[in-house]
Amino acid sequence: MTDLPAAIAARPLRVGVDIGGSKVAVLVVDEDGRERGRRLVPAASSRPDEAIAQIASVIREAVAAAGATLDDVAAIGIGVPGRVDRATGDVTFAVNLGWQHLPLGRRLEEALGVPCVVENDVRAAAVGLHLGQTFGATDDLVYLGIGTGISAGVILDGRLHRGVRGLAGEIGHVVLDPTGAPCACGLRGCFETIAAGAGIARAARDAVTAGPTTLADLADPTAADVFRAATGGDRAATEIVDRAAAAIARIVHELVLAYDVELVVLGGGVSRAGEPLLRRVVNGLEAIGAPSPFAAELLGETTVRLAGPDHDIGTRGAIALLGSVTASRTATGRASAPSAAAAAEEVVARERVS
Ligand SMILES: [Zn+2]
Repeated sequence: MTDLPAAIAARPLRVGVDIGGSKVAVLVVDEDGRERGRRLVPAASSRPDEAIAQIASVIREAVAAAGATLDDVAAIGIGVPGRVDRATGDVTFAVNLGWQHLPLGRRLEEALGVPCVVENDVRAAAVGLHLGQTFGATDDLVYLGIGTGISAGVILDGRLHRGVRGLAGEIGHVVLDPTGAPCACGLRGCFETIAAGAGIARAARDAVTAGPTTLADLADPTAADVFRAATGGDRAATEIVDRAAAAIARIVHELVLAYDVELVVLGGGVSRAGEPLLRRVVNGLEAIGAPSPFAAELLGETTVRLAGPDHDIGTRGAIALLGSVTASRTATGRASAPSAAAAAEEVVARERVS
């Protein structure tokens, strides 16, 4: 990451990029956070060179849609599902994207000539929820991203908790069933084999093999199909979503025990199942609390929310990483030229609710 010359930091636009297993979303906002342009393409290429060219192209299109050019962009925040070195913007182990090692930040800076800040997508979303105080004023929250895989972003005392390796929150690989389905990580019965989109789809395929279910009418049922079938009364689909929701409730309980947060936000593609999912998770939490006054009190004081249909949670989170680019200019009347990576750390601390 480069230091930001004053002339760049003074530019009016910021860009947030959310790279997922199934899409690349770009949002362009002005200094007040108002939307100026956006673009969405279905998926990032698994070939690094193609991916860089594609992501750069989508960013250019979104900026053009804002009636602007890259010369108007102060910085670009990028959320990506994988392990991210925040100092360099290098991405490793982006399993769902097929990237082994990609210096994403540096390559995009070279391609676009604009400073880039890269963070794990779920951690970025957590930073965005905290800065936006989207679900009320709190400095202690968990964002649980349930998509193709599962990961959590943990905000403690107003700061993003990254851990020594930047892997804090990789809770998708907590083993809930040691004899369960094999996971991409090599273990069996990981949380994400039960509750993530790919795990629910696999359970649907197993159900089709095992017996009568309306899921057999679909060529390749997705998690959304399974929730739809459950709502329609299909017994096999209901068992799959009940099991997924019970697993989510169990992990929410463990997150609350581990971190003592007061808010847990469920996001990601699976959360778009909406109220039928939330209702089951809340029921699961009540079942956990039923025999335990301690668990009941703890969970009773914890708010669990759906992130909602707002598809901007990832792009807004990526933009939140850039917060102090604007904040430092406002405070000093000119850009104070922090390194973009340091700026992102700084803004999390600065925006703490006192
Ligand atoms: Zn695993």
